[in-house]
Amino acid sequence: MKIIPLSEGTFTIDNTKLFVPFDEQTENLQSRPAGSLLVEIQPFVVITANDILLLDTGLGFPDKEGKMQLHKNLEEAGINPATITKVLMTHLHKDHAGGVSDDSHRNQLSFPGAAYYIQRREYDFAVKKGLPSFIPEELQVLSDAGSVVWLKDDEGMIDDYIHYKVTGAHSPVHQVFWIREQENIIFFGGDDAPQLQQMKHRFVAKYDFDGKKAMEFRKEWWKQGEKENWTFLFYHDIKTPIYPAARVI
Ligand SMILES: [Zn+2]
Repeated sequence: MKIIPLSEGTFTIDNTKLFVPFDEQTENLQSRPAGSLLVEIQPFVVITANDILLLDTGLGFPDKEGKMQLHKNLEEAGINPATITKVLMTHLHKDHAGGVSDDSHRNQLSFPGAAYYIQRREYDFAVKKGLPSFIPEELQVLSDAGSVVWLKDDEGMIDDYIHYKVTGAHSPVHQVFWIREQENIIFFGGDDAPQLQQMKHRFVAKYDFDGKKAMEFRKEWWKQGEKENWTFLFYHDIKTPIYPAARVI
């Protein structure tokens, strides 16, 4: 399998839940409001024998020319966005689901050739809960798109090689994915396992729906991952998107 991180950039986020671009070279974190977190926003592409998978869709922000950053990243990696076959969504917070549709075409899916795998209860929760964590108008396009596969079970398989499981830790219906091909296992824990440091050190995040549960899951995954040689993908990690760092496995 080949893994390609598709960073939309580094951002700070504070209580307002706004993602503000941050340039590490020229800016100082102290100049941002107290309690600001520094995060990468980083969807991934995983190329398998049968699929081009996209894992979460980022903020969906456009670049200076008005082109979706994610589309641009894909093209730079030699991938036509229309050739993505599956989009796997951990949850629908705006920094993970903003890119399901294009800012300038809210009624069109950004990956028209793909099946989108989404937990039905997560969608219902997101549109009901709304701002500031969810943007219902960006998600609206999913509601009657024929290409959405609404997952209703807490755990199951997609095409016999992608395993999904609802954790209900970071958000009430957050799910995580294992992608298995031959002896290789890629683990994508979304915001239940967002950064390498959080795997190594016990940490209860106050922004989680159930922070203690997320912490316990991380401990379990870190242990099992070591035993079974998982490759971890960290959506919000600035320095280590892939651990261990290997692009081709
Ligand atoms: Zn989230």
